[in-house]
Amino acid sequence: MPELPEMENYKSLLHEKVLDQTITNLVINREKSINVSVEQFKQNVLNQKIIGVERRAKYLVFHLQSDSSLLLHLMLGGWMFYGKDEDKPNRTVQVQLSFGDYHLYFIGLRLGYLHLLSPEKVEKEFCKIGLEPLDPNFSLDTFLQLLKERRGGLKTTLINQEFVAGIGNRYSDEILWQAKISPSMKTNELAHDQKVRLYNSIKFVLQQGIQYGGYMDEPFFRGDSQTGQYEKIMNVHNREGRTCPRCGTSIVKKEISARKTYYCPNCQQ
Ligand SMILES: [Zn+2]
Repeated sequence: MPELPEMENYKSLLHEKVLDQTITNLVINREKSINVSVEQFKQNVLNQKIIGVERRAKYLVFHLQSDSSLLLHLMLGGWMFYGKDEDKPNRTVQVQLSFGDYHLYFIGLRLGYLHLLSPEKVEKEFCKIGLEPLDPNFSLDTFLQLLKERRGGLKTTLINQEFVAGIGNRYSDEILWQAKISPSMKTNELAHDQKVRLYNSIKFVLQQGIQYGGYMDEPFFRGDSQTGQYEKIMNVHNREGRTCPRCGTSIVKKEISARKTYYCPNCQQ
């Protein structure tokens, strides 16, 4: 599932491609991907200019001129592509927004969705989500305070959206490797220096993820050389049996709370 860096990457690419552009046509091939009737969706979205694209946790919000918003969650398997008819990936498209000759394709929206909502409803969706880890308000003191209130497994806590926003299975593995902490630890077992390392690793790994365009397999447009570069520099996730870049020990895969978790059994303690 796309996490904070993937959605941040999409956000900056969408700023380049569709910001201040008018939606001239739209196609809904899967009505379950939207939350209103196709007719109502068209009425509210057609001929609207996109005046902003924002990210919160793993969501993107497209702000329309009319004060309505489109809330996107890609969930598992969802992705986007932008281009002309001839560039369209050979995949089933659930929703298509057109900007003249260019189209924004939403693909793999099985659990994912694009909902038409008022700004108030969007805020309501976000009310339980934790702080943005790259926000200046997310200080070390705040993080230590948040950790104090938590019990239970570290891995499970890291991917809990109410704890901190936008971290999922892949980045939690990379963050714990960076912090040299075992994913099997409980939050209340962490020593102070481990907590500080964890805080710094969250910021470092997510920023690095953004810098390298996240890990999406598919490019966002033809000739896109930025999207997905992070996959090449990941240290542990999906790397079972390969050697740890830090100590040379074989990376191990283990199920933790039904999540496939990858880590180095030697240098993550
Ligand atoms: Zn190691």
